[in-house]
Amino acid sequence: MKYLKKNAKFVDRYVTKWGAIAKDWQKGEKMRGAALIGAPLSKPSISHSGAAFAPAAIRDMLYGYSTYATSQEYDMKDSVLYDCGDILMHVTDIKESHCRIESTVNDLLMTSPNVIPIILGGDHSISFPSIAGFSSCKGKTGIIQFDAHHDLRNLDDGGPSNGTPFRSLLENDVISGKQLIQIGIRNFMNARAYHDYAKEQGVTVYTMKDVREREIKEIIFESISLLKAQDVTNIYVSLDMDVLDQAFAPGCPAIGPGGMDSWTLLDGITYLGQEPLVTGLDIVEIDPTLDIRDMTSRIAAQVIMDFILAKNDLPVMNL
Ligand code: CA
Repeated sequence: MKYLKKNAKFVDRYVTKWGAIAKDWQKGEKMRGAALIGAPLSKPSISHSGAAFAPAAIRDMLYGYSTYATSQEYDMKDSVLYDCGDILMHVTDIKESHCRIESTVNDLLMTSPNVIPIILGGDHSISFPSIAGFSSCKGKTGIIQFDAHHDLRNLDDGGPSNGTPFRSLLENDVISGKQLIQIGIRNFMNARAYHDYAKEQGVTVYTMKDVREREIKEIIFESISLLKAQDVTNIYVSLDMDVLDQAFAPGCPAIGPGGMDSWTLLDGITYLGQEPLVTGLDIVEIDPTLDIRDMTSRIAAQVIMDFILAKNDLPVMNL
């Protein structure tokens, strides 16, 4: 019987995988460090989307990676990563599902003020309630959004969707425009009206042309400085995977050319992770049913690992 192991085809005695360090959160338990929270909602998506399947796909990829970071010669095998499971979504009521996301993020942060939530979408609509719940606990929040799109569409034409989360945050006074930085906005994927709206509101926009012509490090440091000048007490990073070029992220519903490459994104995430004010992250818009060999979910897993690795040196994590 000693060779009977669940789901194991081969075990190398010297390898620790992320799946071995992930710890199921018990209700009421106070967390400190990073915690995964699934928000499996994709019915508000404007286009066909199976992003509700992404939390499971990202976990599958993440838990298969080794905990050893070769560049840093550092093994994260003694780190803590909580997994809170998924938020139960309503079958038909989108606003009810959004309420559940907001209250869950709020409750978790009230119970565990030092937890760093990593929210796995879902489509981008989940960022409105997630950031609303985050900021009601954490105070004035700056947002750094990686995205091909502004996501500032009007709500009259289609209600709350994956095209409206940042419009909703602005219209509900959760943030002002100067608290929002958008990185990776692409040509021919947005209407003039929404770019004008971004400018009127004071949103900072870095297009893909900016990303190509400038160092991502410089853009990230400038973004953090701009948010600090607004006296934010926390920064939340919202990562829409369609910021990546279609060659890197085939599993996004809205794929296209001219996007970011994966190492630029991972470098950006590392610089953000090293900033103590960055205490929240969401990853959205991966549809595993469209993905090819889990390429897009694997990048999400790398983002999570690099983010936690970057946070490792910060005292708040106490990993
Ligand atoms: Ca988006």
